[in-house]
Amino acid sequence: MTHNTLKFIMLTMLVASGLISRAHGTELLPVVASFSILGDLVQVVGGARVKVTTLAGPNTDAHEFTPRPADAKAVLAARVFVVNGLNFEPWAQKLAQSAGYKGGTVVASKGIQPRTMAAESGHAHAEIDPHAWQNPLNVVQYVANIAAGLAKADPSGAPTYQANAAAYAKQLQDFDAQAKAQLDAIAPTQRKVITSHDAFGYLAARYGITMLAPEGVNTDSEPSAKHVAELIRQIKREKIKAVFVENMSNPRLIAQLSKDAGVRVGATLYSDALSGANGPASSYLKMMQHNLTQLAAGMRLNP
Ligand SMILES: [Zn+2]
Repeated sequence: MTHNTLKFIMLTMLVASGLISRAHGTELLPVVASFSILGDLVQVVGGARVKVTTLAGPNTDAHEFTPRPADAKAVLAARVFVVNGLNFEPWAQKLAQSAGYKGGTVVASKGIQPRTMAAESGHAHAEIDPHAWQNPLNVVQYVANIAAGLAKADPSGAPTYQANAAAYAKQLQDFDAQAKAQLDAIAPTQRKVITSHDAFGYLAARYGITMLAPEGVNTDSEPSAKHVAELIRQIKREKIKAVFVENMSNPRLIAQLSKDAGVRVGATLYSDALSGANGPASSYLKMMQHNLTQLAAGMRLNP
């Protein structure tokens, strides 16, 4: 009796005895994703065949993530490690190395056309913008790469992964068409937004939106009265009503903006991480829908 035959008989007995169901008779493929958006995409593509562990979770900055010992353990136990690439999460490669990871790595952004970020003050050179998932058509490539990586580690699942990726690609294309239509209804001159995020370059390029950095409030600290005055002057000069200023959590300053500049500061936009399960951006597609709805509502107020 071969080892496999014995294994089969034992499995059959377990299934017959009702101890394990047929669906769980095979082990799930352990996959680690570097951050929450990729975690969602891997779950979509992998479906019921994979067990996904996400390192930088919802509402967590994946640029500056510090892995914990449990993360090294999860990576070591994984058969596939999915990262964004484009230098988004430099800690991920270090983590894989220090954990002694020997499995496959999927660079989800492989094959997309990267864009450069507007050079910030202090940067002489333009840097590659890693936030490629902000264009849903790039994510078609992401899920194709993920499907190929999962299939390599689990060849018998290849048809499932390909079918899941293809069905999701259709959803992404539908979303893109709907987003285009929604934004085409807004005059090109109105498509201007002030946002403290520098993460929406791909989105802006895809849908013809001009993103302006807020003057005075580009640091993490609460802006001073002088900086708020600068921002108000900018809003008036640019004639912009669509303002999304993340680090302005002070209700008094937000009230001042609405009184002195006549703008309503928009809701939170999600760029690099999903929200929690009960938030408005609990999946990639919900995140894109939420951001676009908020941006469009803001831009419609522009003259
Ligand atoms: Zn970012």
